[in-house]
Amino acid sequence: MATPLPKPAPHPSRLSKADQARLRDFYARIRRDASTMAGYPSAMDYDYSELKDLLDYSLNNVGDPFVDSTSKVDSREFEREALEFWARLMRAPEDDWWGYITNGGTEGNLYGLYLARERYPKGIVYFSQDTHYSVTKNLHFLNLRNIMIRSQPNGELDYDDLRETLKVNRDAPPIIFANIGTTMTEAKDDLGKINEILDELAIPNRYIHSDAAMCGGFAPFLEPRPRFDFADGADSIAISGHKFIGSPMPCGIVLARKSHVNRIASAIAYIGNLDTTITGSRNGHTPVIMWHAVRALGEDGLRERARASLALADYTEQAFRRAGVDAWRNPDAITVVFPAVSDSLQRKWQLATAKGISHVILMPHITRDHIEAIVADVAAELRENEQP
Ligand SMILES: *Cc1c(COP(=O)(O)O)cnc(C)c1O
Repeated sequence: MATPLPKPAPHPSRLSKADQARLRDFYARIRRDASTMAGYPSAMDYDYSELKDLLDYSLNNVGDPFVDSTSKVDSREFEREALEFWARLMRAPEDDWWGYITNGGTEGNLYGLYLARERYPKGIVYFSQDTHYSVTKNLHFLNLRNIMIRSQPNGELDYDDLRETLKVNRDAPPIIFANIGTTMTEAKDDLGKINEILDELAIPNRYIHSDAAMCGGFAPFLEPRPRFDFADGADSIAISGHKFIGSPMPCGIVLARKSHVNRIASAIAYIGNLDTTITGSRNGHTPVIMWHAVRALGEDGLRERARASLALADYTEQAFRRAGVDAWRNPDAITVVFPAVSDSLQRKWQLATAKGISHVILMPHITRDHIEAIVADVAAELRENEQP
């Protein structure tokens, strides 16, 4: 390799003393608020300091991760290695997968639905009531016909409603949008049951997208393994990188059968690097973060974090119940659900609350100390409300 030319001197502008002080205050505020975040799924047990020097450069992975570009200040080689790791865990067909590091689960879901629409332009998307709020917007972008299916009380798709609805729409190919961990109760739709219904109704043309934003990072380690991946019939899968895996910047992983991606790539292959992704310029730092996570943790590290989160979820559920709070969780979920708490407790512990329920999510940075404090607060509030 040739000796690099020196990095050009940065422009001479500097922050004022006041602005520097403002940043220090901001850092202190973030540190405080991060220590009480118990209701949103961002793991914060990471140390990416080995990557700090990369902030000196403008990494841009514009275009396809598997095609080299004339612009070389990129991290495509790390992106490909991170993708290979997750493709293997998602049991992607050896020679028929493709993917890229996205800006998050929402982009991965948009991408999956985009591929589905190109495969079945006249298809109908089926998704449950408990699906993430961004999906309606994605469907609007893509102008796809869609039908909302009822959810069961635990947040999982109501398979009987799916069957009945499919029956009356047999003329249009179904595009199933499956939740692998719903936002509020972490319910997982079962691709095995969905495929059984489609087989039973003799509907061979189908597309299944798994929204594994929430659980994709640890679902492969659950026993029994939930049915959600390529071997279970998924055509595409979206995972959030900043949730269970952990990243200081939002990011995600989208994987799809390559045959679906080829359909969109061929139409626009005239540009130098294939325009197979949604955005043009793409973050070049997050692929290195995802690479760091898989190299530093590996399968064993991720499995161990999943085990610890599940054990703490079990502990949390029991602790709430012992304190008289009517808490519950779905099988193998790291989300513990309980009756909605007051605005002030929602703010204190950043507890997501909707439709009469609040939840804590036992991401790997949450400790027993957090749980004991939260359980005490929620139980105290409950007793107060029960006073005549
Ligand atoms: C978080 C989440 C999303 C959105 O993912 P982002 O990474 O926030 O864009 C979509 N679906 C589910 C089920 C989620 O939990």
